Amino acid sequence: NVRIRHICAIGAGYVGGPTAAIIALHNPNVKVTVIDRDERRIKSWKGRHLPIHEPGLERIVRLARDGTSDSLGTMSEQHRDFPTEQAQAGSDRNPSSRPNLFFSTACAETIANSDMILLAVNTPTKMHGVGAGRATDMAAIEGAVRDIALHAKPGTILVEKSTVPCKTGQLIKDILGVYQPGVMFPILSNPEFLSEGTAVRDLLQPDRVIIGCESTLSGHRAAAALANLYAGWIPRSNILPSNIWSADLCKLAANAVLAQRISSINSISAICERTGADVSEVARSIGMDSRIGPQFLKAGLGFGGSCFPKDIASLTYLAESLGLPEVASYWQGVLIMNDFQRDRFARNVISCLNNTLRGKKITILGYAFKKNTGDARESPALGVLRILIQEQPRTIVIFDPLCNESDIKRELAVLDDCRGVVQTNGLIEIVTDPYLACADSNAILVLTDWDMFKNTKPATPDNFEATELPQLDGATPANFLRLPHRVERVTKLPSPPQTPKMIGIAPDLAEHLMSEPECPPYCEECG
Ligand code: NAD
Repeated sequence: NVRIRHICAIGAGYVGGPTAAIIALHNPNVKVTVIDRDERRIKSWKGRHLPIHEPGLERIVRLARDGTSDSLGTMSEQHRDFPTEQAQAGSDRNPSSRPNLFFSTACAETIANSDMILLAVNTPTKMHGVGAGRATDMAAIEGAVRDIALHAKPGTILVEKSTVPCKTGQLIKDILGVYQPGVMFPILSNPEFLSEGTAVRDLLQPDRVIIGCESTLSGHRAAAALANLYAGWIPRSNILPSNIWSADLCKLAANAVLAQRISSINSISAICERTGADVSEVARSIGMDSRIGPQFLKAGLGFGGSCFPKDIASLTYLAESLGLPEVASYWQGVLIMNDFQRDRFARNVISCLNNTLRGKKITILGYAFKKNTGDARESPALGVLRILIQEQPRTIVIFDPLCNESDIKRELAVLDDCRGVVQTNGLIEIVTDPYLACADSNAILVLTDWDMFKNTKPATPDNFEATELPQLDGATPANFLRLPHRVERVTKLPSPPQTPKMIGIAPDLAEHLMSEPECPPYCEECG
């Protein structure tokens, strides 16, 4: 049996950080070090404010990193709202009370001391050259594997946690072979299925863990060593062995099928709008079919984020490279429908505003690609903005409770390319006060399903005026936003001309706004 004493995760991002923390928590005798080239990110992981927001993560990191979560008394409300299982069970102490989770930029040294290395670096879509827009950019994988080849000791187990095209194991082997010819490094494919916003829950209670290995003695031993680590908290029956290529493909296939469901219901929503059928009624009905199930059937702006769009693009590219153009165009249809949906939403907004945005202020509530994450990458909001700015509004003001201004600006930079000076001339403004964002706005578009945007009291003729928003007491993101509950409600602006004012809600959010109120992450009213 292979004994694992020291694990290193390369990439301190949304996957590397949380995965390492949970492995460390459940394997107190194993030292886990997360390394990254990004000094700022590592500094944040070591400090009080983690670089990513995930409910429950802060407590787990403190338990594994500091040996205790005692200092949580001073933590922000939202983390107390999402206690981890350990905390619920009354344990606020790492079983060993000995810190075993570390963060470092000392890549060479950490790699050299590790028995197992988790590759959790970014694999975005390639932006230039052959396959641009669809193929996976393997630069970070290549860089990390080169570091491993230079510094790892023979026999170190390499685990692909990043989402990579099928057959990446061969590429890794080829790079290693150049630097350390003839040296054996078992390679495992162990794709991560977590979703941002529920990463801790997904890691603590995964539906399944796939471990793909080569069919050799060293491959099986390596797979058993990784399975033993997971068995610290996951039932063995949920840990599935597979061949290494199947494991690679499982991840792309799972994301493609989930995204396909979203595009399927969105295609139906377009038909509903033309016919008078109600897409939420259709979705509810088909979701109750036990052969179909209710998940991922909510019509809306479509999918975004750093995974679905790039993984489906990668699948189409893979199919094409394998000489299967029909398969490629089948999955390409999922992406086409996704773009169509957000274009349709943006055009509806323009049409509701008399087909012109000239001189108007548009408010965007929510930029994150979904609620409970501060990840601004590939947000559907960007696609909506791309169309809105063509109409030359006076200003577009964005508020999101978690996304950093700098992250949103980095994403918006692509709009600068298409229209020159979007950010520099102040066309788009990012604010931290939702009431300020809404003040004197001609249209308020809720683009992320944050709980704080849900309606908290039934609409009456008195409370649906958006002009009320800035007058509410305690105008901070910590409060509920009391939004009108009707999507198309048109109110009047105080001064002439009497321009119609519109609240545009992405279709999936309309349902939320009409549903029963729930406590938002920042609810001050109930603590
Ligand atoms: P991320 O961009 O948040 O983090 C990746 C980190 O890797 C960055 O901090 C970067 O600085 C670091 N890095 C890159 N090259 C490096 C090198 N050579 N040495 C050290 N550090 C290096 O990415 P992420 O969202 O955590 O995703 C990582 C992988 O996991 C991707 O393949 C992604 O598709 C996959 N994945 C992501 C999610 C998700 O929800 N974010 C879910 C499942 C799988």
